[in-house]
Amino acid sequence: MSLVLPAPAPVTVPVAGGGEFPVHRVYCVGRNYAEHAREMGHSDREPPFFFMKPADALVPVREGETGFIAYPPLTSDFHHEIELVVALGTGGRDIAAADAPRHIWGYAVGLDMTRRDLQGAMKKAGRPWEIGKAFEQSAPIGPITPLARCGELTKGAITLHVGGALRQRGDLAELIWSVAETIEQLSRAWTLQPGDLIFSGTPAGVAAVQRGDTMVGAIAGLGTLTVQVR
Ligand code: MN
Repeated sequence: MSLVLPAPAPVTVPVAGGGEFPVHRVYCVGRNYAEHAREMGHSDREPPFFFMKPADALVPVREGETGFIAYPPLTSDFHHEIELVVALGTGGRDIAAADAPRHIWGYAVGLDMTRRDLQGAMKKAGRPWEIGKAFEQSAPIGPITPLARCGELTKGAITLHVGGALRQRGDLAELIWSVAETIEQLSRAWTLQPGDLIFSGTPAGVAAVQRGDTMVGAIAGLGTLTVQVR
């Protein structure tokens, strides 16, 4: 094979304890905590819905280090969404929720950074969300902790502090669609692959960050993710 351009580097995320996890796709779940659904103006439980970010939107941050992201263009309402990220070790179609846990390779703390003003304008116009969600550096992520090391995560605190002040707080047990149910639903629509990541949704408290702000996300059992906006 003779490539006519240099091939892009593969996207990988460091694994806690060593190694690199190769990323295939990045799926995201919308409105998956009741209080966040309410703050976004929705009250009823609805079927889960999904969007994607390009894999190269990920900004991997090593344990104990601070990651940096640029304040993106075209927005004046740049929001944080702290999320549990699920990393798949095996894929498949039509995976039953009961079988889903065996496809999980590990977990990470992630941020689904959002240009809320652009997302809102696209929603209102009935247009795609990519410009609000799928831009460069929109997905900072901490190291992936292998499931073999932390066990299946179905409960535990998920928090985000900005400049030391608590902005978001929830519990993984409050997910409207559990990780297993999310995998079931996703695998009906797409053939899941080893290396897929799933951002599982954010608890209430989403708000804007400014240049210079430092975000510290934490999930019980996974450690912290520190990211500064430049
Ligand atoms: Mn999100």
